[in-house]
Amino acid sequence: MKGEEIRSTSMEYNLQSWSKQKNINPIPVEKADGIYFWDYDGNRYSDMSSQLVNMNLGFGNQKIGNAIKDQVDQFCFIGPSYGAESRATLAKKIIDLMPDNMGKVFFTNAGAESNENAVKMARMFTGKNKIFSRYRSYHGSSFGAGNLTGEPRRYALEPGVPGFIKFFDPYVYREAITFDSEESATRYYLTKLEEQIQYEGSDSIAAIVMETITGSNGILIPPKGYMPGIRALCDKYGILMICDEVMTGWCRTGKMFAFEHFDIKPDIVTFAKGVTCGYVPLGGVVVSKEIASYFDENLLSCGLTYSGHPLSCAAGVACVDYYEEADILGNVNKVGQVLGETLEEMKKNHPCVGDVRYIGLFSAIELVKDKETKEPLVPYGKDPNGVMGKIAGLLKDRKFMTYTHENMVLIAPPLIITEEQLREELMKMEEVLTIVDQELL
Ligand code: PLP
Repeated sequence: MKGEEIRSTSMEYNLQSWSKQKNINPIPVEKADGIYFWDYDGNRYSDMSSQLVNMNLGFGNQKIGNAIKDQVDQFCFIGPSYGAESRATLAKKIIDLMPDNMGKVFFTNAGAESNENAVKMARMFTGKNKIFSRYRSYHGSSFGAGNLTGEPRRYALEPGVPGFIKFFDPYVYREAITFDSEESATRYYLTKLEEQIQYEGSDSIAAIVMETITGSNGILIPPKGYMPGIRALCDKYGILMICDEVMTGWCRTGKMFAFEHFDIKPDIVTFAKGVTCGYVPLGGVVVSKEIASYFDENLLSCGLTYSGHPLSCAAGVACVDYYEEADILGNVNKVGQVLGETLEEMKKNHPCVGDVRYIGLFSAIELVKDKETKEPLVPYGKDPNGVMGKIAGLLKDRKFMTYTHENMVLIAPPLIITEEQLREELMKMEEVLTIVDQELL
């Protein structure tokens, strides 16, 4: 097939996620390499969101591809109850990367399934049923994970799962109260959360599930002391702390896992995306030794045909090795500094930039009509004039590919990006912000 045929066949037969189908217009992709991909007309696009913040190692990594091919040659599949070298090796590597309280891994196929199974395990282990998660979070689109999700992408699933409770996240930039320090913000949010725990009945709460750093809802980085404070509340009330590292894991934020920024040990960690960088699907749930040993004597009532698919695990082993061999963390921290400095300049120079938030190569630009009042460029949940779509279009015209969410533009390039490549791409963003200042405010 050629480009136009691929486009028209996709439009006729594929249902595309999160879209009114009449609006879809996919770019047919012919080839891809590193941070770039090309359409059938030879246009080169820069992947400034690592696709869905999953292609941490970019396109065309030979080591990952070869690891999959080698596994194909050995065998493609053997059921989860059998021993497979790639499955065992990857689980061991993951536990070796985790804090010393963590014990075992249950593999899934993706992020949503990881969160679903984490919640099931938390309920089985604690014998309690309520699950706390936050507004402005995304945990997946399946029934359970979708109900953990604290933003409009869960609406199609409502009425929700009984016992799933939402609390507000620390979105300091948009809080009605002004805080004199990060610590006072933390005190405020933790006090409100503790009150909510008490009113819900601490004896009935199995787990608090959080994106360690909120991703698609705008890179919301917790204020100082917040995560240790959550850990302390969990300990006080016998609640499990579940960190969703689906987006933030695997070097994205400048640490192997984002919870390492906060000096905490979660009870359960969920992951997906960067464990295989999109080469094949894989996700997983890492549980503490204590939870793992509970299931020595108690039935682990979880199961998936493709739990720990050998091909996916082979890709996972190759990715984990590559992160280390290629010192990907070193690159994220070096190039991430350029990203942060450039975003700060943009905030200083552009009336439309209300806030910038960044950590490692994980960042968002929050667009406003007015810096003083912080009025968002588009009202929450609405974009009647398609302004954010226009901005994505202006970026696309420059072959800068990323996605927007509400009034925010996400920038999360593959972690192999060089400083030179990043600077070249950010010039395009600079041009678009100037147009927004002049024409869209
Ligand atoms: N959790 C987080 C934090 C995510 O960002 C996502 C997807 O973007 C998910 C879970 C769901 O992952 P998946 O789409 O692989 O089911």
